[in-house]
Amino acid sequence: MPDYDILVIGSGILGLTTAFYTKKHNPRLSVAVIDRERGAGQGNTARSVGGYRRGIFTSHVNRILAETSIDFYREVERSGEYSFGMRDLGYLILLTKSRYDSIGGYLAPILKAGKAKLLESRELSRILGMVTSFEGDEEAEMLELEDIEYGLFAHECGQLDVEKLVSFYFEKCKEHGVEFIFGKNVKRLILAPEKPLGIPNEPRAWQGKAIGGVEADSEKITARQIVVAAGVWSPLLLDPLGVDCFVKAKKRQLAVVRASSNELGALLHKGGLNKLGTPPMIFFPKGLYLVPRESEGCFWVGLTDDIGRAFEIDMTPEERFYYDNAQPMLAKYLPEFGAARPESMWAGCYAMNMLDGNPIIFRFLNCVVVTGASGSGAMKADAIGRIASALLMNKSVAVLHGGIPFDVNVLGVENRQVDKEYLIL
Ligand SMILES: Cc1cc2nc3c(=O)[nH]c(=O)nc-3n(C[C@H](O)[C@H](O)[C@H](O)COP(=O)(O)OP(=O)(O)OC[C@H]3O[C@@H](n4cnc5c(N)ncnc54)[C@H](O)[C@@H]3O)c2cc1C
Repeated sequence: MPDYDILVIGSGILGLTTAFYTKKHNPRLSVAVIDRERGAGQGNTARSVGGYRRGIFTSHVNRILAETSIDFYREVERSGEYSFGMRDLGYLILLTKSRYDSIGGYLAPILKAGKAKLLESRELSRILGMVTSFEGDEEAEMLELEDIEYGLFAHECGQLDVEKLVSFYFEKCKEHGVEFIFGKNVKRLILAPEKPLGIPNEPRAWQGKAIGGVEADSEKITARQIVVAAGVWSPLLLDPLGVDCFVKAKKRQLAVVRASSNELGALLHKGGLNKLGTPPMIFFPKGLYLVPRESEGCFWVGLTDDIGRAFEIDMTPEERFYYDNAQPMLAKYLPEFGAARPESMWAGCYAMNMLDGNPIIFRFLNCVVVTGASGSGAMKADAIGRIASALLMNKSVAVLHGGIPFDVNVLGVENRQVDKEYLIL
């Protein structure tokens, strides 16, 4: 029967970073990562857009998790060791008057620190040819679109290639001796008595308990400590034990629109805001966003819907979702999309922590749970892995990139201390 010091369930980006930092700092421990897929990062990590956001969080915790991770990725790139394909497209967040009035106060320090600038609506029209005023447009009124007052442009943001991020940590894990077990589904965590008595129905309520290992397909794998990094599937492993990880799955969908018309081709090469000669990633009101992929000659169109979108694990894209929900709004702001049809779509699920949108990292028995990245796990993965690994090693403080200390309880359940994020995209 295979036996390890540490068994990590899930080879998504959070399982990989946790396994890497654990093995790196504890080379004598045997560390294995198990996943039912045939390779690393094939779950929701593979469906990620890879957007990264730096300098424009209002929450301290968000800032530390994202910025130390992004700085680490950038440093690795600069050293020439590995390329993550980081493209500083910039984020352009469009603000209606009502949105600006509600968050304007939180933007002041960001603007003062030079992390972003405010663009007037007429500059948005001039640079990107965007429609920002809908006066007299009955269709826009029906769509309940408000005029755009400002665009908040943040230049330290952009997009990276998540596949490369996965390969980097996967290679690093292997280099340090982490073992990988692919193609095996963990059916359950095995709850065992700490001191087995050999009586029926152990562990009984009065016995000390531990997770003795996992049942993976028909095989039992034992480990001294287990990490549950199973993303949206984490509750399926934890609920049967009566352990709540406070995560629910929410489907997110993207459409790929080829810039096949002259108008879309011209839009894809409208520079002026970044050094790449292409538009930035644009976040419109109501959860709509646009990602230019100039090297592939296309755009990705995403829409994060909220009420009405069930909590469930569902990876099937819905074709009508684009036509009914995204395109009508998008074509109002950017008329180039009026006749555009998607050539493909994909869907994945965010592991949502609905309370504060930040990861959940906690210990129970001899297990550490690391999940709940709520749609920003790629950009925060390095920090999350370091924190989960420190918790696993019973340390109270994790050291993030740049030597920044981080209390491992901050993202836990009992002593959670996550401050509110006001700039939600
Ligand atoms: C459409 C979409 C867009 C996104 N865009 C961004 C973005 O722009 N920026 C950003 O930072 N983040 C983004 N994210 C979020 C980011 O992708 C996630 O936060 C991150 O990938 C989560 O990683 P994970 O390791 O927790 O989960 P996963 O990658 O889902 O990994 C979990 C792994 O566990 C395995 N597993 C589960 N259960 C079992 C079992 N019982 N037995 C064996 N194996 C099991 C799965 O196969 C999977 O490989 C996006 C996500 C989606 C879906």
